[in-house]
Amino acid sequence: MFSKLKHAATTMSDREKLRRILQQQRATLTSEQTMVGSDTIELDQSRIGRLSRAEAMQDHEMSLEVRRRREAALKEIEHTLEHIDDEDYGLCDECGTAIAEGRLVLNPAARLCIDCATAHEQRNA
Ligand SMILES: [Zn+2]
Repeated sequence: MFSKLKHAATTMSDREKLRRILQQQRATLTSEQTMVGSDTIELDQSRIGRLSRAEAMQDHEMSLEVRRRREAALKEIEHTLEHIDDEDYGLCDECGTAIAEGRLVLNPAARLCIDCATAHEQRNA
């Protein structure tokens, strides 16, 4: 039985860097969420004049979808920020190996290593 600490690839300074990336991502998503705000909930009358009702509804559905995705991403970020100090942060949920630092920098909320993520994508394709 190996100690989990032996596997943890991310050092404290790495985690600080990743924490700042997450906070930055959270700030961006939050401000985007506030910006789109109420006009995506109610259909804008002036736009209905130009678009057909079906197009307006489709547009509305799309912005709701974008909003849902943004909320899901925000949740992921919050979750990661809560667990970034855990000793198993940065380890793949599936196989337990350390997730490459370059991958974490691009997406600090990543929970799978590149191999497992690729395997998932191929299964879902
Ligand atoms: Zn893995």
